[in-house]
Amino acid sequence: MEKLGVILVPDMVLFPNSEIRIEFDNIQDQSIISILEENSDQLMLIVNPLIDDFQNITSLPNVGVVGKIKLKMDVPNNKTRIVISGLKRVFIEEYINNNDTYEAIIEDIPLINNQEEETYIRILAKSIEKYINSVPYMSNAILSKLSTIESLNELCDLIGTFLPFSYDKKKKYIIEINPIIRAKTIIKDMNEDIKLLELEKQIEEQVEKEISESQKEFYLREKIRAIQKELGDVNTKDDEVADLKYRLSKLKCNQKIKDRIKKEISRYESTNSNSPELGTIRDYLDWMLNLPWNKYTKDIEDLNKVKHTLDLSHYGLDDVKLRILEYLAVKQNTQNLRSPILCLVGPPGVGKTSLALSIAKSINRHVAKISVGGINDEAEIIGHRRTYVGANPGRIIQGIRKANTANPVFIIDEIDKMTKDIKGDPASSLLEVLDPEQNSKFSDHYIEEEFDLSKVMFIATANYIDQIPYELRDRLEIIQLSSYTEFEKLDIAKNYLIPKALEEHGLTQLQVQFSDEAILLLIRNYTKEAGVRELERLIASLLRKIVKKLLTDFNIVAYQIDENNIQEFLGKKKYKYFDQENYKQIGVVNGMAYTAFGGDILPIEVTYYKGSGKLILTGSLGEVMQESARIALSYIKSNSLYFKINPKVLEENDIHIHVPEGAVNKDGPSAGITLATALISLFTKKAVDSNIAMTGEITLRGRVLEIGGLKEKIIGAARAGIKKIILPLENENDLDEIPKEIKDNLNFILVSNYQEVYKSIFEVNKNG
Ligand code: ADP
Repeated sequence: MEKLGVILVPDMVLFPNSEIRIEFDNIQDQSIISILEENSDQLMLIVNPLIDDFQNITSLPNVGVVGKIKLKMDVPNNKTRIVISGLKRVFIEEYINNNDTYEAIIEDIPLINNQEEETYIRILAKSIEKYINSVPYMSNAILSKLSTIESLNELCDLIGTFLPFSYDKKKKYIIEINPIIRAKTIIKDMNEDIKLLELEKQIEEQVEKEISESQKEFYLREKIRAIQKELGDVNTKDDEVADLKYRLSKLKCNQKIKDRIKKEISRYESTNSNSPELGTIRDYLDWMLNLPWNKYTKDIEDLNKVKHTLDLSHYGLDDVKLRILEYLAVKQNTQNLRSPILCLVGPPGVGKTSLALSIAKSINRHVAKISVGGINDEAEIIGHRRTYVGANPGRIIQGIRKANTANPVFIIDEIDKMTKDIKGDPASSLLEVLDPEQNSKFSDHYIEEEFDLSKVMFIATANYIDQIPYELRDRLEIIQLSSYTEFEKLDIAKNYLIPKALEEHGLTQLQVQFSDEAILLLIRNYTKEAGVRELERLIASLLRKIVKKLLTDFNIVAYQIDENNIQEFLGKKKYKYFDQENYKQIGVVNGMAYTAFGGDILPIEVTYYKGSGKLILTGSLGEVMQESARIALSYIKSNSLYFKINPKVLEENDIHIHVPEGAVNKDGPSAGITLATALISLFTKKAVDSNIAMTGEITLRGRVLEIGGLKEKIIGAARAGIKKIILPLENENDLDEIPKEIKDNLNFILVSNYQEVYKSIFEVNKNG
């Protein structure tokens, strides 16, 4: 048993067969000084307290290492440095406290020779080898020393000294007297460290990869910038922000909009260049800065000038032009207050859109033009919210931006072709747009700020008045345009379409001349339309061919287009024009229809064969038309005596009614008298003239009721070569609208009862 002075070391360990260096203050560290003074053989016990904050003996371990001073030297600042070598690990029997210096009574630890130790020596040696290989900064100097060591105890201490572990770990190695347990702890610690290092390595690699990728991107971006700079189109974010701010300073709009744009520019500035949001903000700013918030054109108010412009662009249409002028006059007088919206209604190609364009030109306004045909989503009108991917403003704002003024003539085409479904009702959104009470504060979902539409002059167009959504119709001032007669078309062609087309093709009136007959041939045999769109196209295609001829054949200087050479240019006639050799047929009678091409005749065919009185209807007839057929048949059955039809024939046969062309949908009650006439013709075997056409609803009692679209129907029938037209007396007033040159060629028979129809067809026949 020995007694040794204790030096408490709280931050490093002394292993047997190694050294530590301690520096102490010559005045303050009295405990060390006294130990060194009292002890002649320079031995002491190095003890590591169990807890960091040493307080009393109970927190001292019962194992320490005996050390011996190897070197002692004075260093500046009144300090002394000692180097202590570790001799052996010992048990501490007891600590003795003498005025805050401690002494310990120590005892040697007996060495137990254990067979297992051999195995652990090998394992430990392997582990340290593995550890050195895995840890890049470990020197392998220790490996050469391993072979000189025989006991596990010593090996553990050697390795313990060598390992770059923390004080806390090493302290455990000192305190543990069983070398096998100590070896196990060291191995476990080394393995953990290896794992940790691997993890670290992985993370480092990952980070490195990320860094190198972002460096790559940065490099590429820099390169793009350099290239752009070289090309002179530098577009860095800074430049862009400067540009946006400049544009804002030049923008004419109210303060609220300015503030909003300013806010968005700041957002743009503070958003990371790589953020996808940047593009979205940029797009929004683009819209805001390009909208004509406060841009207006000044109207031409001289209505004579306006009329002159309209006359220059459109032939005829006197009523229409008059109504437009009246409308403009009222608008001027009331300063835009609640004037209704113009709506031009009529078949295709009669000049609705072009007239609206001409109105814009005549009062010096820009034009916005959209079509709402087929729209079923209200977002198309009022935009998508910005949170929606790929959001855009609606068509109204898009149109305004294109027009680039806040008071354009805004043409809304096909207002009768919107549909309504789950995505909402575009008609009601359009109503908000058109309503002068609301549209000064029009708010598009994308733009979010209010845009004043109250100075816009809206003009809608439609083909069918009844298909315009009801709530909209209420707001509209309907102006009806109708089909042109052949002679109107001739005039339009001569005075408007041909001169315009010649100019567009770089030709003069001297180079190409059209005879009237040639133009009529174009109208009658190459087109079938209410308006003049097809005719216009045809003239263009004719002129293209002529330009080519003039350029390739220098012998030709001028061209005369007449009936004879038209076929050479345009190929075979496309439509038959009945200038009618009349013929008679049993069971076929011409009805009159109002189709997308304007008016036309609609032959109705009937036949019968053995059966049981069934009625078969074909030709895509709508429900109302089918009912009409049944009413006509019932009427004939109940009046068979009058019409001299054997009732048995009606009972013992099936009757088939067909209305060509089968694929075109037809509906409406106006074929009533035609159906009845075809049936009577069939059962009485009396033929009907092919140049007669008729229209009128029939009731069970044989009354003939008013029908719609008469003007179009009559013009269409005249075009088809009809000479005699039977129509309801109730429609008499409509005849006033029919152009004189058409009326002059037609014989009208007005009826209020079917018997009058019967008489005029069949009894005239009998007499004649
Ligand atoms: P819509 O809008 O009714 O379908 P457009 O306005 O597109 O018809 O007219 C088709 C073409 O016919 C245009 O080139 C137009 O100039 C011409 N057009 C139609 N009506 C007339 C007219 N009365 N006078 C001169 N050109 C006309």
